[in-house]
Amino acid sequence: MSPFTIQQISPEFLKQVPFPSFLLNREGVVLHVNDACEKLIGFSEHHLQEQPIQSTFFSTAPPRFLELIMDSKDSLRFNELQLSHKDDHLVSVSLLTKPCVVLGKPVILCMMIPTENSQLVDRSHQNLVDFYNGIHQSFMTVTIDHEGFIIHCNSDFLKTSQWTPKRVLGKTIWHLFPSADGDNKIVKAIWKTLQNRQIWQGDVEKVTKNGQPYWVHLTAIPTFGATPADTQYIFIEKDITADKKIQLQLEKIAYIDTETGLMNTHRLEHVITDMIEEQRHFSFVYLSIDKFYTLKELHANTEESSLIIDFTKRLKMYFQDSTMARINENDFVVITPLPEWFIQGFQTYLQQNPIYNNHSAVPLSISGGITRFPEDQHSFTQLMKASLATIATVREAGGNQIIALSKTTHTALNRKALIEKRLLLALNQQNLKVLYQPQLNLKTGKISAVEALVRWDDEEVGVIAPHELIPIAEETGLINRIGSYVIEQACQQAVIWQKAGFDLTISINSSVREFRDKNMAKSILQTLERTGCPAHLIQIEITEKFALEAEAETSIIKQMRQLENEGITFALDDFGTGYASFRYMQLLPIEILKIDQTYISSLLQSEKTKRLIDGMIHFGQSMNLTVIAEGVETAEQKELLTSYGCDAIQGFYVSKPAEAREIEKLYQA
Ligand code: C2E
Ligand code: CA
Ligand code: CA
Repeated sequence: MSPFTIQQISPEFLKQVPFPSFLLNREGVVLHVNDACEKLIGFSEHHLQEQPIQSTFFSTAPPRFLELIMDSKDSLRFNELQLSHKDDHLVSVSLLTKPCVVLGKPVILCMMIPTENSQLVDRSHQNLVDFYNGIHQSFMTVTIDHEGFIIHCNSDFLKTSQWTPKRVLGKTIWHLFPSADGDNKIVKAIWKTLQNRQIWQGDVEKVTKNGQPYWVHLTAIPTFGATPADTQYIFIEKDITADKKIQLQLEKIAYIDTETGLMNTHRLEHVITDMIEEQRHFSFVYLSIDKFYTLKELHANTEESSLIIDFTKRLKMYFQDSTMARINENDFVVITPLPEWFIQGFQTYLQQNPIYNNHSAVPLSISGGITRFPEDQHSFTQLMKASLATIATVREAGGNQIIALSKTTHTALNRKALIEKRLLLALNQQNLKVLYQPQLNLKTGKISAVEALVRWDDEEVGVIAPHELIPIAEETGLINRIGSYVIEQACQQAVIWQKAGFDLTISINSSVREFRDKNMAKSILQTLERTGCPAHLIQIEITEKFALEAEAETSIIKQMRQLENEGITFALDDFGTGYASFRYMQLLPIEILKIDQTYISSLLQSEKTKRLIDGMIHFGQSMNLTVIAEGVETAEQKELLTSYGCDAIQGFYVSKPAEAREIEKLYQA
């Protein structure tokens, strides 16, 4: 049969065709539909008859589709047509049309072959297609293959990037970014993320074909095919160059001190961090104008440029080619490779080139600190901290000097900083511990109390003795946390001992700083309650310095009284080392006096000390106080103190501070 012969078919032919098929008349109106066709599209023959084909069936037919079919003398094939199913999903088919004659009338036989796998393409697929088209229309898009080669891009991308399709296709992803030599950290990060099958999103700088920078907000999405080689990466980009320019301007403003034009602390931090990274040696010179606010007041009425601007001019003149920053109102930093003697010469320079106010020289005094990298300190924060410590030292000595702290001072500063850092960790991890030192009651010959003493053996720093730890903790405010830790431990221990039948009071050291917290008494009482510890088992030791300060602060006295009412007793520690004022004896609820160990250590050396200690003991007892001698190391000392009528002793003679279990042994001995 020649392809050009019009085939005669019978009306039954349609029923025998194994494909979904229908017949059209020459006007494109449906005449007959077979069962398979009804099934494929979900409509009955009755519903479809007399309907024009285009509107009924094919939503994605090519233009002039019907005319093509009608005019053709031969069979035609249309691939990937989408047929709307009654239930609103799309069926993808190939359509084969063939002019025929049925009962003498020209018709067109239409057979539909569902495309590959005869899968149903549902609406969501169409949604995806629409979505994809939408993205390509509103963003710059670039598609990259699994090896990083550009395989597709849209017109918006070409416009911004100034590439032509011919040139850009087949280039690698690296060509779209600055430093195309494969060294761009961001591109590496993007590529790695995509290869981990994750989406990368962020603002990135790109370059046009001619190397012009532009900024985009990029979303890079990996898409997966059947095999790894089918993986593609779609870059969806929005041009944000204009926003970025504004942002950079703002950043610049944020980095500059508007009054002097010098960089500010934020910028300085970046600069210093970079210099440190590059291992560049320098001196960090911190200069602070003394009594600045008084000077400012004096200078306030002048029309001339401000004191600060004149000062900045002097700085720039003297420290040429050095980096300088304004840290705050009256503080400046100069980063310079110049030697110490030259830096210190700035004082003389200022005297020789004074700043004038109403024709008289302003008496400018500068306190300064020179800290060197890498000899003295190793980070921006450390340089700043060390500088502030230096300035404080200078100011204490009257100001108006530029000095460099000694190597030992820097070492000490660094140790302090390290201890601060480690202490915070130790507190969080409960790495501190408490030892107990017994007090021997001389009247009964029994151990009646112990003093709780904090111990800290840090992994990194080693053993940190209380005399180093406590001042640092007080300075940083961590003393409150040490205090509550020790109290908690002591209360728990007191309860254990009470239950085991030991009659032991626990004495705790406390710092005035802890009592400045208005909730100190409350939190102690809460600890007692939580641990089930009776108040009479706890004593609190305060120093004379504490007593003196408490005297002036009614809230401290109030808290002490509150604790006393609950049954806690107070001891005056280190008696004799503080201030010769006994007023606090009247004001504070003190019941115990602890004579400081310095007196006891010289007890046997002079008659005078003997009389002094004897006097102290009698003084305490006349006030109805229990008197304890601290630092007792020998039997001789003990005998003498017993003969004076001292109530109790504490010291190495009885025992060094020890673990709770050893205290129990001593108690039972
Ligand atoms: P302190 O309250 O006077 O404690 C007595 C100190 O003398 C303890 O030193 C103890 O080990 C030592 N000592 C005891 N007997 C003798 C002796 O016979 N001879 C000599 N030479 N020394 C003796 P430590 O434990 O180093 O404590 C030093 C200071 O640190 C304490 O002096 C106390 O003021 C403070 N401290 C210790 N633990 C705490 C605490 O938990 N909180 C507070 N706020 N301060 C504490
Ligand atoms: Ca003490
Ligand atoms: Ca003491």
